[in-house]
Amino acid sequence: MHILSNPIDYLKGVGPARADLLRKELKIFTYGDLLMHYPFRYIDKTRIYNISELHSVNEFIQLRGKIISFNEKGERRKKRLTAILQDDTGQIELIWFKGIRWIKSSLKLNTEYIVFGKPSLYNQDINIAHPELDLYEEKSFTVGMQPVYHLTDKLSSRGITNRTLVKLIKTLLPLLSNHIEETLSLELISKLNLPSKQESLFNIHQPKDAKVLSRAIKRLKFEELFFLQLHLIKNKLFRRNKNYGYRLEKIGDFFNTFYHNALEFELTNAQKRVVREIRKDVSSSKQMNRLLQGDVGSGKTLVALLSMLMAVDNNYQTCLMAPTEILANQHFNTISAFLSKQDINVGLLTGSTTKKNRLLLHNKLKNGELNIIIGTHALLEEEVQFDNLALVVIDEQHRFGVAQRSKLWKKNKFPPHILVMTATPIPRTLSMTLYGDLDISIIDELPKGRKAVKTIWRTDSSRLQVIRFIREQIAIGRQIYIVFPLINESEKLDHKDLIEGYESIQREFPMPDFQVSVVHGKMKNEDKEYEMRRFVKGVTDIMIATTVIEVGVDVPNATVMIIESAERFGLSQLHQLRGRVGRGGEQSYCILMSGHQLSNEAKKRLSTMVENTDGFKISEIDLELRGPGDIMSTKQSGILDFKIANIATDQKILDFARKEAELLLMNDIDLEKEENINIVRAYRPYARERTQWSKIS
Ligand code: ADP
Ligand code: MG
Repeated sequence: MHILSNPIDYLKGVGPARADLLRKELKIFTYGDLLMHYPFRYIDKTRIYNISELHSVNEFIQLRGKIISFNEKGERRKKRLTAILQDDTGQIELIWFKGIRWIKSSLKLNTEYIVFGKPSLYNQDINIAHPELDLYEEKSFTVGMQPVYHLTDKLSSRGITNRTLVKLIKTLLPLLSNHIEETLSLELISKLNLPSKQESLFNIHQPKDAKVLSRAIKRLKFEELFFLQLHLIKNKLFRRNKNYGYRLEKIGDFFNTFYHNALEFELTNAQKRVVREIRKDVSSSKQMNRLLQGDVGSGKTLVALLSMLMAVDNNYQTCLMAPTEILANQHFNTISAFLSKQDINVGLLTGSTTKKNRLLLHNKLKNGELNIIIGTHALLEEEVQFDNLALVVIDEQHRFGVAQRSKLWKKNKFPPHILVMTATPIPRTLSMTLYGDLDISIIDELPKGRKAVKTIWRTDSSRLQVIRFIREQIAIGRQIYIVFPLINESEKLDHKDLIEGYESIQREFPMPDFQVSVVHGKMKNEDKEYEMRRFVKGVTDIMIATTVIEVGVDVPNATVMIIESAERFGLSQLHQLRGRVGRGGEQSYCILMSGHQLSNEAKKRLSTMVENTDGFKISEIDLELRGPGDIMSTKQSGILDFKIANIATDQKILDFARKEAELLLMNDIDLEKEENINIVRAYRPYARERTQWSKIS
């Protein structure tokens, strides 16, 4: 057994009780786990502060001084021990709330200590709570970067402190010397000028200065990102080489008629580019797996339709799957209208399709009569069988899981081409990681003549003006969205906001002069659909809603989006909501209503919306503000669980890692070459773990 697999109990200084705690609290089961428990930050112990400089310090620091007195104060739970530490420049209070008896008996008066802790201001005075103390003479006192490890409250209360971990690591590292295998090829190491694996692991725990530390961190980040990219690209190449795809060779009458005659506008250059990318894939006889990213309103649906016509032209079937009935309906209407002059059979299958129609559709799909089927999850049901499905388009990917996607695969002898569309712009670093095994196409251009939505941020004191503005817009025939934050649909409070908002809008805009719709998550599906339809048809002037309308809804005549309590929405949600307007030729507006008292982060979000219209830019700011884990759903964020790399800040290293992984596979696709033996050895167990993980989730 490799020494890294040794149970943590074997380590000197770890008894059964500690081992239990380490396992439970930090998931440290083995030597290797402890080694991989990297510090999350460091304290520069290269400097000793004077007490007189502390008023402006807000971080961990070191002092050197003598304790000149002790004092116990308070009773029972309020009991605390204070000590006065003195150096040549002044005095400061040290304070303990726990372990008082032990500390008092072990500390010596008038003896020089190195005191380590974080000064804080309390009642005008600066003190340091629970500092660490070392006798100054003691040999253990070292100058350098002190690692700080992640701990839990439980560990601290059981006496496992940062110091304990530092000590355990100090015991562990010498045992591992020469037992740590290199995981990168010598070529890569020298090409990128990286420290060895062992050096990096040692230095990340015990750096002697900032320079070796930063080299160690860089190497470990690189490695982490490199293996993930290697895995993703390898999968992509494997699938591409293995899977035979339907060869959609011909561009025929359906495509041409639509493209040259029916389409009333010119495609944007970005749309043309993406259509070419797709065309290249589907005509190659390899299976396409492509992600199409484009901001709201960039014209993805049209690109999807053109791709679908490629399938129809080659006598294959194709389907388009949307996350909600509203969207499926909408796609069905748009696409049917676009194709009305051509002899193409388009069907719609959703949860509310009647049983009779359903059977009819099933039959027509199976015997090949239907060319295009549009629908919801209903398409995934067992009974839905195709004659020859060659292309699957999935709209708004983040609502469907990977498992659901692969259900569609299985409906065929060969896996169909897959085009996944998402209007959630995500930063490049994220898409490279989340969708690193897909090819990515980006529409980064809006159709000509689109007017940018004017975004305004207002507080309650401007409500009257806002109402007046709504009135003016309705008077010239426009429609209005008012959105309330029902972040959790079951929260009573939120619901009350919505209903009160509804009532007050009805007072301001009474029937019969005005028509108001309301849609929220607690309504029955059919009622939602009914209200939505009334708004789409222009029967109602105002749509009051929760974020159920976030995705995809297209009502070009709606020109005003009012978002209530906008501070409670995330950036990407705000951007999605704003994307509901500005879809026609008219000037559109987004009004963000907020309270006066806002956190800095909320202010930043709202001003970001006012200043930016580009979804990718907004998503990058979002990533900076929130970090990757919060941006994606928990399921997806599993992929983003890095030990040390950070998708938001390590873009450059990621680019490097991806490029190197590509190069490597280009030269050695099966990883057989002798020079890559280190990489293969490390990659195999990695791949196994990843594959298992993706099966679970
Ligand atoms: P997305 O799905 O990317 O949000 P859509 O495909 O729904 O965008 O397109 C939004 C609107 O813009 C639709 O009404 C569509 O017909 C129109 N549109 C798409 N492409 C163009 C173009 N090149 N020029 C003008 N209008 C376009
Ligand atoms: Mg769309």
